[in-house]
Amino acid sequence: MKVLCVLYPDPIDGYPPRYARDSIPVIERYPNGQTLPTPSAVDFTPGELLGSVSGELGLRKYLEDAGHTLIVTSDKEGPDSEFERELPDADIVISQPFWPAYLTPDRLAKAKNLKIAITAGIGSDHVDLATAIDRGITVAEVTYSNSIGVAEHTVMMVLSLVRDYLPQYKIVLDGGWNIADAVKRSYDLEGMDVGVFAAGRIGRAVLERLKPFGVRLHYTDRFRLAPEVEAELGATFYDNIQDLVKNVDVLTVHAPLTDETKGLLNDELLGTMRRGSYIVNPARGAIADRDAIVRALESGQLAGYAGDVWFPQPAPADHPWRTMPHHGMTPHTSGTSLPSQARYAAGTREILEAFLGGEPIRPEYLIVDGGSYAGTGAHSYASK
Ligand code: NDP
Repeated sequence: MKVLCVLYPDPIDGYPPRYARDSIPVIERYPNGQTLPTPSAVDFTPGELLGSVSGELGLRKYLEDAGHTLIVTSDKEGPDSEFERELPDADIVISQPFWPAYLTPDRLAKAKNLKIAITAGIGSDHVDLATAIDRGITVAEVTYSNSIGVAEHTVMMVLSLVRDYLPQYKIVLDGGWNIADAVKRSYDLEGMDVGVFAAGRIGRAVLERLKPFGVRLHYTDRFRLAPEVEAELGATFYDNIQDLVKNVDVLTVHAPLTDETKGLLNDELLGTMRRGSYIVNPARGAIADRDAIVRALESGQLAGYAGDVWFPQPAPADHPWRTMPHHGMTPHTSGTSLPSQARYAAGTREILEAFLGGEPIRPEYLIVDGGSYAGTGAHSYASK
């Protein structure tokens, strides 16, 4: 089979990088008891950079020993890209949400042999799922592989916005010491109302991590958390995001990108928030109306916006979120720390081993299968 893998480019100063640490922590299980990936073996050392082109997700030896062809490229945009040139006879496409190989209906029409699209990571909205359903193409992702890392990144961004960390760091870099400038927008998180939009794997981990900061927690989701979980968190549930956002100082966003969530953070919704609210969105850029976020920061309706997800990706050099005031954006990195890469590379291999061996793929990894939403996809992506 021909496997076409789209990965982000190597570090500018070469591959492999010098690593800052010699190992990564060993995690036994995910918080809900789900086991970590269980491939028969891996051909990499956990902690290596696997998500860039030379890292190859550690798949080359395994695939070539089994007689398959592996093409790895970062060149993914436009009809002359290597991705589009290789797509027509590819059986399997693999990409990461950080550097997504957009599988639009047009591209899927060209991909006559495509049987499975694997997301090395979480979030398969870069694949046109309706077309995948029509065509019987399987879509799978490595559920839970990077959820805790994204929750950690979220907490980091909430604190950094509220305390106004980044401008203070800049003052130090610039050789300054003006404390009044450094603190004139600096607040404490303690005592604030924090709202979580979608309490799935990431959203729930954010609620759990923010509880010890002495905040009041609020959330909305299509399905309510179990009463004992809600009670332990002391979290107030709302039926919808409209009611949630009126009652919070900080909003964090953790829903998948679907027809229901696209463009949800628009002028109208932002206008109902408390003046000076903060938003952290590490879910998907297109859940926010790009220009409405800029307007709300410029008018002061929002005091800060951060996240690591943009549309499209990579974001163009003139994307307004690079230069809007009071932002704390990163490129799409929260789910691709070195430990997350080790887990989703192993999970990708587990999915490949199952698929190529004619065995079932774990339901928790499935988004679309057999012409309909399946597994995790049936819960998180399908309409309620
Ligand atoms: P989960 O599937 O565990 O959680 C998603 C939650 O969103 C579910 O609880 C789901 O509800 C809920 N939801 C779906 N649609 C709506 C809606 N319209 N209104 C309210 N709630 C809704 O996924 P994860 O927590 O693991 O990941 C969430 C998203 O984060 C991913 O889809 C991905 O886009 C993004 N992500 C970003 C990463 C990054 O690097 N920045 C890395 C990993 C993920 P229910 O299931 O109850 O129906």
